[in-house]
Amino acid sequence: MERIVTKDDYLKSLREQGHLVYFNGERVEDVTSHPAFRPHVNAAAKTYEMALMPEYEDLATAISHLTGERISRFTHIHQSVEDLIKKVQLLRAIAHETGSCFQRCVGWDALNATFMTTYEIDQKHGTDYHTRFLEYLKYIQSTNRMVVGGMTDTKGDRSLPPHQQKDRDVFTHVAERRDDGIIIRGNKAHQTGGANSHEILIMPTQFMREEDADFALTCAIPLNSPGVVQIFGRQTNDDRRIHSPLDAGNAEYGLVGGETLIVFEDVFVPWERVFMCGETEFSGLLVERFATLHRQNYGGCKGGVSDVLVGACALASEMQGSAKASHVKEKMAEMMHLTETLYAGSVSCSAMGQKTASGAFYPDPLLANCTKHNVTRHVYEIARLAHDVAGGILATMPSEADLRHPEIGKYVEKYLSGVHGVTTENRMRVLRLIENMTGGTALVESMHGAGSPQTQKVMYGRLAKMDMKKKWAAKLAQVEE
Ligand code: SF4
Ligand code: FE
Repeated sequence: MERIVTKDDYLKSLREQGHLVYFNGERVEDVTSHPAFRPHVNAAAKTYEMALMPEYEDLATAISHLTGERISRFTHIHQSVEDLIKKVQLLRAIAHETGSCFQRCVGWDALNATFMTTYEIDQKHGTDYHTRFLEYLKYIQSTNRMVVGGMTDTKGDRSLPPHQQKDRDVFTHVAERRDDGIIIRGNKAHQTGGANSHEILIMPTQFMREEDADFALTCAIPLNSPGVVQIFGRQTNDDRRIHSPLDAGNAEYGLVGGETLIVFEDVFVPWERVFMCGETEFSGLLVERFATLHRQNYGGCKGGVSDVLVGACALASEMQGSAKASHVKEKMAEMMHLTETLYAGSVSCSAMGQKTASGAFYPDPLLANCTKHNVTRHVYEIARLAHDVAGGILATMPSEADLRHPEIGKYVEKYLSGVHGVTTENRMRVLRLIENMTGGTALVESMHGAGSPQTQKVMYGRLAKMDMKKKWAAKLAQVEE
């Protein structure tokens, strides 16, 4: 398979792979030209484009520890604390260009989590999952294909374990074992970038008990495999992409990643692409590894997106003459403080990262969880401040069609003007960008992307060393055991 190097290579590869994607009740033949998908495709393409820019070479590429070749950092296994920090720097830098999610980190995190965990499964069980996985990793590194990390199953009745579900397909599982491979059934939900990826690396969705061995599954399949169907989710104001790029706000790159529900209807997976099959005691570990690696990211990408939002608010306030007001300056300072706090979390969990048995480096899990947990709060607060600074016009502004209208256009032009010298259209463009970045789907993603806040709180109980905290307190209070 040819190596994907440029944006054009990437677009061509998506057009040629013929994967099954549905949106709004219709089959989408070409995701690269469909207005609902194009922004997400452009955002992911940025990861390819920046790897070719000399000023980003150090961040966006790395040297493969397997082959010594220069590869996209999005396919690299972290070899040091420096690599972990560069990951966060890279995400912030790309977000400055896209103002939205660029999706490719999910597969990257899945590759790293699977690398570490397969090594440990083999150590315990004498299996050869890690060796198989290394071959797969070399294939991904050399072809530079985009991988989606498949973790979340829809889960049906949350009070029941997988094997007790009325319809077992709500959890992805092995339906049949054969000499040459396995047949899988099930689904993965919220699959960021699924519609414009080449491969999915499927992981278990949660800790599994022995009775759930069929669900302790890690494997990789091309997304154009027979039996794979993707259904694309709606996003806030997605119609605007079709009717008016101006009204869409960020027509070039969208608002969040673009998520699909991926269905596996008896999909064949050859053994060389199976990396865990029934080792239930490792499913929880793999979930934790993936979650930590993905939560590490959020102060990087959301930090970068927030930088863009701060810039948009600064522009809007200059355009409407409120930039010098002390309360506006105060709110802008608050937004920057929150943004840097998010970034600090991502840098700190990376700086405190450690080497795993496999040799790959892993961020500090407690700090990574705190980082993502901060995102569930600070991004909402940053959005609240942005709404405050931008003003009520965010919610009541007429459309581009009204601005261009032969009769009423002059009223929109005249009454939506701001300071002298700024066109009404430019003011509307900036306000639409703010609306886009602080609206429904974008905020919900900050809450639930990389795991809902409750999943971070569960980790505090496990990682926060409560016994030590009690000991320190008891000693100072002079309380005997
Ligand atoms: Fe990457 Fe952030 Fe998007 Fe997750 S939300 S895929 S970390 S850009
Ligand atoms: Fe995400």
